[in-house]
Amino acid sequence: MVLYSAGRTTSYPEDTPEKGLRYHPLGGGDEVGNVGIMFENDKQTRLLLDYGLAPTHPPRYPSEAPKVKDAVITHSHVDHLGMAPWLCSNHRTLLHGTALTAQISEMMWYDCHKVSSIEGYPLAWDKRDIDTAIDAWRIHDFDTPWDHDDWKLTLRKAGHIPGAAMLNLETPDRKVLISGDFDTRDSPLTTGAKPKKTDTLFVEGTYGGREHPNMEQEIQRFVEHVQRVVDEGGTVLIPAFANGRTQDVVMRLHKFLPHLNVHVDGMGKRIAKMQMNHPETLRDPAALRSAWSWCKRVSSKSDRKRALEADVIVSTSGMLQGGPSIWYLNRLRHDTKNQILFTGYQAKATGGRQLQSEGKVKIFGKDTEIPLEWETYSFSTHAGHKEIVDFAAACEAEEVVIYHTDPVHARPPLAEALEKNGHIVHNPVNGISEYLGDGFSRSH
Ligand SMILES: [Zn+2]
Ligand SMILES: [Zn+2]
Repeated sequence: MVLYSAGRTTSYPEDTPEKGLRYHPLGGGDEVGNVGIMFENDKQTRLLLDYGLAPTHPPRYPSEAPKVKDAVITHSHVDHLGMAPWLCSNHRTLLHGTALTAQISEMMWYDCHKVSSIEGYPLAWDKRDIDTAIDAWRIHDFDTPWDHDDWKLTLRKAGHIPGAAMLNLETPDRKVLISGDFDTRDSPLTTGAKPKKTDTLFVEGTYGGREHPNMEQEIQRFVEHVQRVVDEGGTVLIPAFANGRTQDVVMRLHKFLPHLNVHVDGMGKRIAKMQMNHPETLRDPAALRSAWSWCKRVSSKSDRKRALEADVIVSTSGMLQGGPSIWYLNRLRHDTKNQILFTGYQAKATGGRQLQSEGKVKIFGKDTEIPLEWETYSFSTHAGHKEIVDFAAACEAEEVVIYHTDPVHARPPLAEALEKNGHIVHNPVNGISEYLGDGFSRSH
């Protein structure tokens, strides 16, 4: 299914920037996810940062990218790379990123394609385009610059998930640091992002205006809850995203509840193997290896049945939208000793949200009563409000561009805090070009 017809659906301006560096959000400017940001200067040097989609209901796609030779993909979440196959097959764009991001991308694209056909939403690329995209990868190590015309590009560790990068973009006149999805706090898998002096900082504002709970207390509350359910003879189901969250949860269970019988199911199993093949991306490779050999990986139908007797099941999907977690839920729901522990936000129109608001989940197309207790824990690996503000200060950024954010709830308090600290703040809007460096906008 083709959504784009060349030249007609793009918001990208036809003129060349007059001077300096211009950016243009095709998506992700004033929304969470769906990222695609074009950079261009007066010499027509172009670069695209990320090209994702938002797997919401219905999904959202960035505006059509103009012809661009190179794109940097910050990390392997679908809201940052979901549309890359279209880019590669239509513009022959090369994808630049870390080795682990490249390795995981293939699985994310196949999964995205599968989900789009199950849920019946259109995708502008097909399976053959995945092969083109795989060939388009150009791998870069962290902290190793490469030339892009007269710009110098460098990937830096972003925290968030293994392989995730911030992009440092240096033109002859300006330094720009783009956070991607980032966190300055350590997680079980990753080390927190470190600030770097820059002129302009693009920062993801997902958690603007919101502070994370104290992590130690949150973990303690989680650990006690899991133990309580197990003591009372129940099984805990933990729906978790495959890419990052599954492994973080298993590592915490291994560290704090090593006596429990923990089973792991879903795509997170293959991703853990890939992460272990790239120890350079991990905070503590040995800790992941030992957590992984400790938990029981579900790999067959009989394993799955056996897992129903486990103390804890960690499984995709993270928001109870299909995946083995639905299979488990459909069986565990019959015994009210069992409980569901979410480890993150449940988006609108997902099974998880429906459970939280109505006590029901759609199972095999049918609204099904779930009489189980549930609780939500915050194991986010996005920087919270304070982390974002502190990071911008430590980068000594003259101007801060807040993107990947909810423009109504999250961005205003963040913009206020950043302005108070003396930064010039940009509030980008999808489809509107802005110039960096002169502090005011010349919109198109
Ligand atoms: Zn994101
Ligand atoms: Zn992400």
